[in-house]
Amino acid sequence: MALADTPASPASLDAFWMPFTPNRKFKQSPRLIVGSEGLYYDLADGRRVLDAIAGLWCVNAGHRHPRISAAMKAQIDVLDYASSFQIGHPAAFVLAQRLAEMAPAGMNHVFFTNSGSESVDTALKIALAYHRARGDAARYRLIGRERAYHGVGFGGISVGGIGRQRSTFGPLLNGVDHLPHTLDLARNAFSRGEPAHGIEKADALEALLALHDPSTVAAVIVEPVAGSTGVLPPPRGYLRRLREICDKHGILLIFDEVITGFGRLGTNFAADLFGVTPDLITTAKGLTNGAVPMGAVLMRDEVHDAFMQGSVSGIELSHGYTYSGHPLACAAAMATLDAYTQDGLIAQSAATAPYFEECLHTLRGLPGVIDVRNVGLLAGIELQPWAEGAGTHAQAVAQHCVDQGGVLVRSVGDTIALSPPFTLERRHVDQIVDSLRAAIAQTARPTDAAA
Ligand code: PMP
Repeated sequence: MALADTPASPASLDAFWMPFTPNRKFKQSPRLIVGSEGLYYDLADGRRVLDAIAGLWCVNAGHRHPRISAAMKAQIDVLDYASSFQIGHPAAFVLAQRLAEMAPAGMNHVFFTNSGSESVDTALKIALAYHRARGDAARYRLIGRERAYHGVGFGGISVGGIGRQRSTFGPLLNGVDHLPHTLDLARNAFSRGEPAHGIEKADALEALLALHDPSTVAAVIVEPVAGSTGVLPPPRGYLRRLREICDKHGILLIFDEVITGFGRLGTNFAADLFGVTPDLITTAKGLTNGAVPMGAVLMRDEVHDAFMQGSVSGIELSHGYTYSGHPLACAAAMATLDAYTQDGLIAQSAATAPYFEECLHTLRGLPGVIDVRNVGLLAGIELQPWAEGAGTHAQAVAQHCVDQGGVLVRSVGDTIALSPPFTLERRHVDQIVDSLRAAIAQTARPTDAAA
């Protein structure tokens, strides 16, 4: 019997403290998933719903992809676990090389982790250690951005820009500053792809550097498209400007591509789409199609090579995880990358994106819809907040979508986020947009104005 067939008893519901969830409310009427296939989830109440968020922005190839399941089954019967501490197994090396081939030119080195949070903390640590390895220990400052989500490690919440995640835990990392976020509804609402206005927001980096001594700054980290805080595509030219400023001052640039990596935007990485190569890229989620935890930090040769200068017998970086390069995760990742590239799923993501965009923008003019923004197969529909509290409007729409329209979407603040598997077809896009249209219309209040 699969574990998912075991009913959740009241005691078991109580036992699991669910992450990022209002536990007491959820457990009054729990919604449980018991199966999955392709674009769909099977719910415990017998309903099948279209998964328009790809699990949690990760199941890019669709659920239970046969290639990935087969690879994992084959691997578990040959090698279950092998450490990567001073011993190795071939799959981790092969996968690293494969990732290097997919990465922007010049990024040929990979450090394996188990999650996005670990990738972020790893990248920040590598950035700090890189400067030290080059004899530049004065560089200790890190610069993040408002409305950034970089996972839940102490490094990630320090550079992250979500007030509640920061204020709950007392003092965080020293020497962290934040750029302003790039959302500008007044000038950019209903933009398609990169909004036209806001490149000057990158100049705030120069202002921060003027405030501190730029020679004390180690790295700048941004999501090329902020995801969990509402899907915020970068203003045109913004990322390039950040790159120029970082170059000018010897500062490393990190792109957190935990969501945008592996085809979500129709290219291997957001770095490819926007034509800006960072020094480090953090990944996770889509790397294994969500089938098993894994993350990876990709880096430019120059970053890696700075650690390879001293004694050959010493450990180059005092960092790593028991499960770095786990065999099962490597097998899942290799099969996932095959699906993305050899089976053409990234090309499919790019091919479907224009229709997705076209349909989503028909929601403009509905009551309470104050913005639609999108890039690739990633989109946000921002709703006018309701008086009873932030997020309540989007939660009502999301609830209606799953209950009435059979479509699972995600509410992040007052934005409905969409991040469907790349395998979706036009009819699925239609179903998602029809269900949103109905949900928005039927939950509308007289106070919801049309934009
Ligand atoms: N960075 C970004 C940009 C993310 O979107 C996420 C997860 N949503 C993370 C980091 C953290 O990933 P994880 O939950 O796997 O730790």
